[in-house]
Amino acid sequence: MARLTFLGTRAEIEEKTENHYYHSSLLLQILHPYSFRLVIDYGTIHSYDLSILKPDAILITHAHPDHYIWTKEEANNATPVYLTIETLEYGKFFPVNPHIFYPFQWFPLGPVQILPYRVMHSVRCPAVGFKIQLPDDKVVVYNPDLVDIIAKENILPGTDYYIGDGSTINTNLVRRKGENFYGHTRIPTQINWCKKFGIENIIFTHIGKNTLSKEDTFTEIYPEAVLAYDGMKIII
Ligand SMILES: [Zn+2]
Ligand SMILES: [Zn+2]
Repeated sequence: MARLTFLGTRAEIEEKTENHYYHSSLLLQILHPYSFRLVIDYGTIHSYDLSILKPDAILITHAHPDHYIWTKEEANNATPVYLTIETLEYGKFFPVNPHIFYPFQWFPLGPVQILPYRVMHSVRCPAVGFKIQLPDDKVVVYNPDLVDIIAKENILPGTDYYIGDGSTINTNLVRRKGENFYGHTRIPTQINWCKKFGIENIIFTHIGKNTLSKEDTFTEIYPEAVLAYDGMKIII
């Protein structure tokens, strides 16, 4: 059994609401076989103090400041921070205790196994998502910012919980540069990926302006998915 807490669910936008005030960040708490607390992403606007939350580790998806405080600010905390070399080199500041991982290579972290995978999102700040296998073999994927998952036919099968990019429902936020696409794909596209790969639990974080404007009717139109809000907890 594990508990997910959405510490923040807001995208890098001007708009903020009570439900989407803090930058997207997730706390995964494992209770068995021993207690382990993992935070994914730590942006400049956060609801918590790391010295009080005391995670065992932090995973970083990419160096945009809504995901990685060290792009803009110093944060002196000895928690191990797991990130790609590109993210570490992009930041203006550096975590005290950095650990480098490589996309498409599984690594163990406490009682969980992590597979970082490449997603298309940004030229300057190459991003990853995480496939996380829990001690009871449940699988969570977390990719809060993306246009697409590279080789998603290898990543998405076997996933129990998809946590995706809630930036937009129907506004196009994709830019093309040469062969590559950047920005944010739409929620319905991600729901289709989940249907294709048989993923039953679909949650969106990183709520953007377009999605905010349609939040009231979201459940009616997309009953198969949930929009996370700041402080939302689920037991999986
Ligand atoms: Zn973002
Ligand atoms: Zn980003």
